[in-house]
Parts: sequence; structure tokens; C-alpha cells
Amino acid sequence: MKSLMIIADGLGGRPGDVDGRTCLQVAETPEIDDLLSRRGSAGLMDPIKPGIRPGSDTAHLSLFGYDPYEYYTGRGVFEAAGIGMEVTENDVCFRTNFATLDSDGKISDRRAGRISEGQDELEKALSDLKSKKYPEVEVRFKRSTEHRGALCFAGPDLGGNVTPTDPHELGIRMPKAKGRDEKSERTADILNEVTDEASEILQNHPLNMERKEMGKLPANAIMARGAATYPDLPLVKERYGISASVVAAGALYIGVARIIGMEFKQAEGATGTVDSNILNKVKLALKQLEKGQDLVFLHFKGTDNASHDHDAEGKINFIEKIDRTFGWLNDNVDWDRTHLSFAGDHTTPIKYGGHVADPVPAMLAGPNVRKDRVEVFDEFSCANGGLGRFSGNLLPITLGYSNQLKKFGA
Ligand code: ZN
Ligand code: ZN
Repeated sequence: MKSLMIIADGLGGRPGDVDGRTCLQVAETPEIDDLLSRRGSAGLMDPIKPGIRPGSDTAHLSLFGYDPYEYYTGRGVFEAAGIGMEVTENDVCFRTNFATLDSDGKISDRRAGRISEGQDELEKALSDLKSKKYPEVEVRFKRSTEHRGALCFAGPDLGGNVTPTDPHELGIRMPKAKGRDEKSERTADILNEVTDEASEILQNHPLNMERKEMGKLPANAIMARGAATYPDLPLVKERYGISASVVAAGALYIGVARIIGMEFKQAEGATGTVDSNILNKVKLALKQLEKGQDLVFLHFKGTDNASHDHDAEGKINFIEKIDRTFGWLNDNVDWDRTHLSFAGDHTTPIKYGGHVADPVPAMLAGPNVRKDRVEVFDEFSCANGGLGRFSGNLLPITLGYSNQLKKFGA
């Protein structure tokens, strides 16, 4: 049997989203509702546990069956792995921004005017970054989309308890990184050294001269945050005895999945935003199952982007776009031997514009599921479903129905 786990980021909402109803209630979702009423069972899921406001990274660890309180070290390492950097237990990683410092060295833009070209050249210019104090430590920087990137240090005695150099504020100087223990102090030292070195290189880079002449903000600094050591996560192969692929576009999700041993598959036209070609992602996910993978994790990001932007219409449209891919799934999945789970990774209400602890709607469909009487997939109806209310673990729950779980005990 096969398992397909689909997460729509920030799917959950609150009655305040649109005149007393959630976006999921307002959106027309005939295909999802059809699947649920014909083959499924519904419930409410606390992504981590009741009363915990999840980040997307900790939520996904929990959904995959890994207790984030045991395993989570920080975001940087997932971002680095998600943009294709090879990270190992020797690494400490940060997520970074290209930023703009004014002539006084104060931050005037945290995203260097959302720089959209020339980042490859800047990355190249930063390829020889090195700590003079700790020359044995390997320094790697890689850009990702727009102003985003990651910075990794590999070497002995590094720590992940390092304060950010991105203060999330304008008009002040970048703060110096500090470490909260001996290893982290060393790491903070290296970060401060490398940050200065990067500023010097970028300040005089021809691309930035050009940007200034064109009236654009120069990308003359990198700011780091989300310091993290490599988490000691068992691979899905060891933990569950399965092979798995991830189809996603957001670096964070790709990173979490890669570090637990899922194979990343790039879908054409997948952007990680509301304009993404998500039908291509769905088709690729199914192809991976047909090729022999036991499980595919499929991630859609647009729902969360629209929620953070307080954009109810955008969220509704994206949910309806997801619904159309369920139409394709309804017709193309081998329903005699596949279980599909679908949920959010947390609730992101439109008015609040951030993650909250409210439980998310969840459903499971397939031949071994005890079909319940819920016929509509939303935050209210799912409260009456056969899955009841549960915490995280959606991946092992899905595997369980597909007879892919190892036994605990004799
Ligand atoms: Zn999320
Ligand atoms: Zn979010």
C-alpha cells in the first residue's frame, strides 16, 4: 500500500476571517468534500499539542512523528538543507538576508530592496569567506530566492546558541552576535568576523555600484538569524522502515523533509506562493508513488502566504485551486491501495496574520479508513468526525492505515 500526505500551510482559520466564517468554509471545495464523504474520516488536529503556537518547522517535525521538544535545534539548518546545501553534524547554520546599510552603517532596508537579480555574482564574491581567528572552520554561503540565503560553518566545537545579527529593525546598526555558551561564543565570534568581511566585499562590489547608479538599494550586508546545529533526527527509513519523497517549493519544508531522509523532487512551475503550478506538484507526487516510494509528502504554501498578508480572497482562491487538484486526485489515485491524509500545519487567521494554537481540520481517506458522516471539510464540520481530536503524528497515522508501520513491542 501507499501513503500520500498533503499539507496546506496555515490552512486553519477563525470565524473572523470573512463575516463569521473561515476562508475554508467560504471556499467552494466540492472535490475535497466528495473525497471525504465517499472515502474519508475527519478530525481536528493540534499540530504539536493543545495550547502550543507552532512554527512551521516545529509543526512539521510533529506531523512527521518527531517530538520537536526532543529534536528541534533551530531553523537555520532546515533552510540551508532546503536550498540544497549539504549539511552534516559538523555544521552550524543560519538563515540570512541581503540587506542595505546606509553610509553611517545603519540598516536602511532588511531585504536590500527585495533584490531580484545578480545574487549569483554576490554569492560568488562571498565564496572565500573565512575566519582568521579560526581558520580550521569551513565557511559556506548560498543565496536562495530574492534576498534570502543561508550561511553554514563546519568545524569542531561550534554551538547553536547564537543571537541574531538581524535585529528586525531599521535605523540602527547591526548588533554583534553573542553566544550563550563557550562553543556558541566561538561561533558568534566567527559570525561577527565573517559578517564584517562580507560587508567589506559587498560594499565595493561592482554590482552594488551599478545598483546605486540605477537608484536601487545596494545589497551591502548579510544579516543572520535562526542559528542551529544539526538535529539528531532518525531517518524515516530507520524510524518507519519506509522510502519517501517530498514535493514542495518552500526551503524550510524541503529542508525538514530532506534531513529526515526524504528525497526532494522538483516540480515544474512550483513557486511556493499562490501562483504556484500545484497540479504539476500533485502529478509528480503520484508519479513518485507509482515509481515505488512508500510515502510522498506534498506541501502547498500559498494558504499561509495569503493569511500572513491578511488576504482572505487570496486564501479562498488558493484553497479552491487546491480543490481542483483533488479533482485530479479523485480520478487518478489507485484508491484500492492508497491512503491520503490532508490537513494544515497550523491555523493562520486572516485578521491576526500569524500562527495561532487553534487546532486544524484534518482528514484521512482510503480503503481501510472507517468512513464517518462528515461530508464537508472545514474547521466546524471536522469537529464531528471519526478521527476525533489528536496531536500531530499525521505521517505515522497515515502509514498505519497503509499497513506500513512497525510494531511497538512484542
Ligand atoms: Zn506553516
Ligand atoms: Zn506562516
